Amino acid sequence: MIRRVAMPYPHLLAPLTVAHLTLKNRVLMGSMHVGLEEEGGDFPKLSAYFAERARGGVGLMVTGGVAPNRAGQVKPFAATLSTAREARRHKHVTDAVHAEGGRICMQILHAGRYAYHPWNVAPTRLKSPISPFAPWGLTGRGVRSTIHDFIQCAKLARDAGYDGVEVMGSEGYLINQFIVSHTNRRTDEWGGDYAARIRFPVEIVRGIREAVGPDFVIIYRLSMLDLVADGSTWAEVLQLATAIEAAGASILNTGIGWHEARVPTIATMVPRAAFTWVTKRLRDAGVVSIPIVTSNRINTPEVAEAVLASGAADMVSLARPFLADPEFVNKAATGRALDINTCIACNQACLDHVFQNKRASCLVNPRAGYETELMYHRVSTPRRVAVIGAGPAGLSAATVAAERGHQVTLFEAGSAIGGQFDLARRIPGKEEFNETVRYFERRISATGVTLALGKKVGVGDLKGAFDVVVLATGVGPRGITIPGHDHAKVKSYAEVLLGAPVGNRVAIIGTGGIGHDVAEFLAEPADHGTEAERLASFLAEWGVDYDGWGVTESTRGGLRTPTKPAVHREITMLQRSSAKGGGRLGKTTGWIHRASLRKRGVTLLTEVTYDRVDDAGLHVTIGGQPRVLAVDTVVVCAGQVSRSELAAPLREAGLVVHVIGGAEEAAELDAKRAIAQGAQVAAGL
Ligand code: FAD
Ligand code: NAP
Ligand code: SF4
Repeated sequence: MIRRVAMPYPHLLAPLTVAHLTLKNRVLMGSMHVGLEEEGGDFPKLSAYFAERARGGVGLMVTGGVAPNRAGQVKPFAATLSTAREARRHKHVTDAVHAEGGRICMQILHAGRYAYHPWNVAPTRLKSPISPFAPWGLTGRGVRSTIHDFIQCAKLARDAGYDGVEVMGSEGYLINQFIVSHTNRRTDEWGGDYAARIRFPVEIVRGIREAVGPDFVIIYRLSMLDLVADGSTWAEVLQLATAIEAAGASILNTGIGWHEARVPTIATMVPRAAFTWVTKRLRDAGVVSIPIVTSNRINTPEVAEAVLASGAADMVSLARPFLADPEFVNKAATGRALDINTCIACNQACLDHVFQNKRASCLVNPRAGYETELMYHRVSTPRRVAVIGAGPAGLSAATVAAERGHQVTLFEAGSAIGGQFDLARRIPGKEEFNETVRYFERRISATGVTLALGKKVGVGDLKGAFDVVVLATGVGPRGITIPGHDHAKVKSYAEVLLGAPVGNRVAIIGTGGIGHDVAEFLAEPADHGTEAERLASFLAEWGVDYDGWGVTESTRGGLRTPTKPAVHREITMLQRSSAKGGGRLGKTTGWIHRASLRKRGVTLLTEVTYDRVDDAGLHVTIGGQPRVLAVDTVVVCAGQVSRSELAAPLREAGLVVHVIGGAEEAAELDAKRAIAQGAQVAAGL
């Protein structure tokens, strides 16, 4: 008798016919610029990056944005497609993807006034808040020639072998700038009422369809929630969706929020699938019949399946989860969902890198973007490897070394793996760090690492038993040395996060990443409510018009007055320097942390000298004036110190020692460096 095995994710893994294609599942890898697009004369690294993801089973991929002309480039020398010569280079990518049985569309992105160069253009000469360069207002002829360039770009993409294009109509780029009155003050045929303002995207899509014929996918990324003042109303979104389908689009993808919006839309504190209700509302309206894709903070197959099962969309778009794990779909389809390396939405190695003009990678998967450079080849002569410390650095080193065939023992002094991640995961909004710990637990057993928990290693434990030692003993909190440093009020961040009692009036010494995290931890109520309550309060706090069902008809841009979160403690953060507090936090997430704490009434004092702690509180001097902060608890978040004392005696004992992560250097340490260093050292053993 044949035993039937039910498909674990029936909605997610169902095929979907779009235009001339039958996609093997409902998963779209959303557009991401990785910084390989502009490198070199051909695209070998970019091809390897996409080929690995095609092999991983994703139904359809979309490239990073490619400009249809020079004015549309996001920055100088950014990728464009306007000549046959450029199209020939793209063939490397499409051939590599098709050889793996994958499908790929190229995104056409015209940055408009968001471009970071002085030759940028816009419907109206209005500078954007996120580029220093005011745009040139397009003439009527300029508008026509831009539409022509979009169409030409799509034709070249077809010649290059792409299965289709995605027209980028959201996130505040040029097309969005035409649609919204905030950025379009034209009085000619391209401005005025809504019907006139959407003529630009409609003519682009219609022109592309006429030029490429029916056997070519056109995805239109539609800004369903602008999250900026004077953005579209819901009725206008419906009008645009209808017009874009009529113009010839094959798929509608969801765009949430312009880049200049001050609402978090993808960072880790955004609840999972927080915006799928917007797509559902469009689907339920029944005004379009082409497939609709939903997106934003969908990072596990369970969430994706639930979103599709709820009828929110026909497909789900996941972007960063494919940096974290190219095999996401294959693992989900073969009962290995728990083996997926989950994107924790930190932005640290992907989006933050893009904003710093660095190649994008992934904090939890340092191979992302380095597919041809960071290779985990099997070894012919296994070595006995001891890894000391099961924090991110040690976990990465141990599992990569074991994957390559080495005999690895991982020693951990504590009772569980994770190191400082065991603290990070307790921060409200950083619950995703649990997924990384779960992933490494699975990886330890899959790769055959011998795990020795509760084992604080000394030199005698290792001598003679191992060929190589990887020292990943990490960091500990740096204490303070002022009088009263041992007062009962003074606690380290580790003690507080592990449950030490904290009073209602708190001073936090240090305003780095950990200081901000501890402030969030203390400012939040202990009980965060149900998932639905958390979503509702997140949207209310950031001023998104939600009401449990969707944006109201008349609201512009989906915005409403934000609600004030309840204040649970009186918190003061302090630093010695005059620098902007929290200025070194991530480029794409720092503003969220700072805004969130401001909303919770947290104050931040700079140029502080710490004098002493006593029963009255924390005594400081600011601007030459002594002051007492009458607090119940002083939490020390004053950086960290390396725990590397084993390195020298191990070397003296004749062992080969590699020191990685926090054990090597505590300054500027983060998990991105720790995990990457672990993988790099293990790849070289
Ligand atoms: P650790 O994490 O310190 O791990 C070292 C391990 O070695 C520990 O488990 C320890 O018990 C073990 N050990 C020590 N000595 C011995 C011994 N002799 N024998 C056996 N075992 C031993 N980073 C980010 O990138 N993004 C973030 O958002 C972020 N948020 C954070 C939030 C908080 C609250 C905290 C505390 C940290 C955060 N970090 C974040 C920092 C990140 O967790 C660290 O950079 C990272 O954990 C360092 O990794 P590591 O492996 O080098 O050291
Ligand atoms: P940090 O960012 O270096 O901040 C240390 C803070 O302590 C600074 O505000 C510093 O400010 C203060 N300080 C340093 N020495 C001091 C001393 N002797 N006495 C009093 N104050 C002192 O370190 P961290 O907050 O501990 O974070 C550690 C690492 O974890 C960071 O490098 C970060 O990358 C990572 N992390 C990242 C995130 C994230 O969201 N990406 C979150 C948490 C942690 P002054 O010198 O001005 O007083
Ligand atoms: Fe996700 Fe962070 Fe990796 Fe970016 S760096 S893909 S946000 S885990």
